Amino acid sequence: MSHNAPLTYVRALSATLSPRCVNRCGFCAYPLRKYRAAPSLKRWRQILRAGRPWEPTCLHLTGGEPFTKDRELLQTVRYYGHEDAVDYVHTLLAVAMEEHHGGLLTSVELGELRRADLQRLRPVVSEYVVGIVAFDPAIFDTALLWNAPTMAPPRRLELIQMLGQLRMPTTVNLLIGLGECESSRLQTLAALAEVHARRGHLQAVRISPFRPRAGTPLENHPATPPDLIVRTVRQAAEILQGIPVQVPALAVEDFVERCAEAGAQDLGLITADPQSDFTMTARSWGKVERRLHEHGHRLVERLALTEQAVAHGLFTDNQRRCIARQLTCLEERHVRPVAAPVAAAAPEVVEVDETRQASA
Ligand code: SF4
Repeated sequence: MSHNAPLTYVRALSATLSPRCVNRCGFCAYPLRKYRAAPSLKRWRQILRAGRPWEPTCLHLTGGEPFTKDRELLQTVRYYGHEDAVDYVHTLLAVAMEEHHGGLLTSVELGELRRADLQRLRPVVSEYVVGIVAFDPAIFDTALLWNAPTMAPPRRLELIQMLGQLRMPTTVNLLIGLGECESSRLQTLAALAEVHARRGHLQAVRISPFRPRAGTPLENHPATPPDLIVRTVRQAAEILQGIPVQVPALAVEDFVERCAEAGAQDLGLITADPQSDFTMTARSWGKVERRLHEHGHRLVERLALTEQAVAHGLFTDNQRRCIARQLTCLEERHVRPVAAPVAAAAPEVVEVDETRQASA
């Protein structure tokens, strides 16, 4: 990769709406988190205000699966006066728009949702993130994933395909180093390339390393070696022609320049969580920036919708307004936004035809 090709990234605020998850993926510490009730609107405004110094252009919302059926979450949001979890998310996003002057795009990672719920979210969501592991039967038959029904490869593929039918820009987060074989990693990448060839909605594929977490069944499993990440990034760049390969900057901070040289083009969301201290994020991100500059790589901030997604018309009216505001903010910060041509692309906006999609 040329050292002149920029690496892109997004500044984001993150918030977890529900840590409950029906799955028990052996590598995941998410369900071990202390339960914290979904924020009230008053608390939500405080969170958003606390996150302003990070200068985010994106709001990243996560929740366990199935997010819309979590009984405690439903009780909480109904107590707040919302019809259901999707209605609650819409309200959170509307408040975020007020607090950040109409300028936050939204990335969500809410796992497997019903088609009808995805359709309701589509107008306000700029990116849907889907976590997967390599489609390797050998690891699905082990304690690693035997109790994680919605992570099964056919269901994950179905979800990714459905997001394509709904024309929702999607980032797939592929976790590697769990003991899967190389051919299954390559087959998984090939399957993603095939889905993208039909729907054109994958705006990035993230290659993520496994890191053992205390208290999980895989706490003694070795972390993914850097060489495996670098090799997979190189293979992904070859197989996923036209889909940017992403690496999670803060998880590869000690060898990020090697990932860039192997073909990674994007560092994804650099997320700060205003509910905890985000000086750690700032420090780690500063280290990544220095390291890349020392190795001759340029960094360019982008919006949560990639240039390719925009070129494919994968945005709604809501996002068009949001992007216009963000471009002004980025200019004020003297950042060259990668998605700049979007302003001229406005007449080409393709809205989601909900009637047509519902009958598809
Ligand atoms: S589905 Fe996601 S949140 Fe749930 S246990 Fe698995 S990795 Fe964790």
